[in-house]
Amino acid sequence: MKKTIGIVGVGKIAVDQHLPSIAETGTFELAALVSQRGVTHGSVPTFRTQAEMLAALPDLDAVAICTPPDVRYGYVREALKAGKHVLMEKPPTASLMELDDLEKLAASAGRTLFATWHSQFNTAVDEARARLAGERITRVAVTWKEDVRRWHPGQEWIWQAGGFGVFDPGINAISILTKALPFATFVSSAELLFPANRDTPIAASLTMRAPADAGVESFTAEFDWRQEGEQTWTIDVETASGSRIVLTRGGTCLSVDGVSLVEEADQEYRHIYRRFAALAASSSSDVDAAPLRIVADSFLMGRRRVTDAFDW
Ligand code: NAP
Repeated sequence: MKKTIGIVGVGKIAVDQHLPSIAETGTFELAALVSQRGVTHGSVPTFRTQAEMLAALPDLDAVAICTPPDVRYGYVREALKAGKHVLMEKPPTASLMELDDLEKLAASAGRTLFATWHSQFNTAVDEARARLAGERITRVAVTWKEDVRRWHPGQEWIWQAGGFGVFDPGINAISILTKALPFATFVSSAELLFPANRDTPIAASLTMRAPADAGVESFTAEFDWRQEGEQTWTIDVETASGSRIVLTRGGTCLSVDGVSLVEEADQEYRHIYRRFAALAASSSSDVDAAPLRIVADSFLMGRRRVTDAFDW
């Protein structure tokens, strides 16, 4: 029998991706929503708090926590303690210690904890990883530039401490790097640009260091939320054997030496729900902290610069 699932936080990503992915993959039966604003979906019941949902539906199997990251820890802990399998949106938590604690809690509860990184769930990223395995890399360039007003309209939490700022999308690029590159990378310096009236950065420039035998010594990753017009989510890699491997459109497209090999839109969350169902079937977890560590290190190493105030 299909496991049942409740969605907690029915904002943009829950509506754009989680609801359609659950319906299309048939991996779970949607049993409830938790929405502070009372958002509804078909005949599924909506509860104002997760606690109300857990009390009303004691047999519920799983939850997907689609809130902003700074409040996720409390919801995940409550769900694991109630014996549910838990899927977490990215970034999984506001801090590394919270993620560590939740991973231990899931292990002791014998339940699944799945910290999703949606950009990793692209065929193009898998293909890039396979092609880069065992290669010496001579150049890497990350350019992640988008218009915050277009993609995050009115989302105040992204500007509050714990909201990640430009690293909310930027961590997607980082999650692709940690999956696809054949070596570990480290933040050696970071410039973080904060609007005068906000607590999180609107732009960031990272210098990443690679191990001595990687080929490339260092490379830059540029993130900017002030990009109007064409939006850019590109990772461009060259290898010592002369290949140029370019991921575009957030990791959904791959070209090799100028030839397009993969173009796959909108499948990330379908793959995520199939993976969650498989994990929940064996009560096993998948918690990869590497992208969050790189963002945390960027804040640790970051030089703060102040720029113009930001208003919607
Ligand atoms: P959003 O539109 O602001 O939705 C978040 C929802 O969480 C809110 O609408 C609210 O829904 C609920 N919520 C519960 N506690 C909250 C609190 N303390 N403050 C604000 N909202 C609270 O944000 P989103 O874009 O869906 O992003 C949610 C998560 O998904 C983030 O971690 C983000 O990085 C990730 N994500 C977003 C996208 C995207 O395209 N937007 C893509 C991939 C991943 P209710 O009123 O229904 O409770």
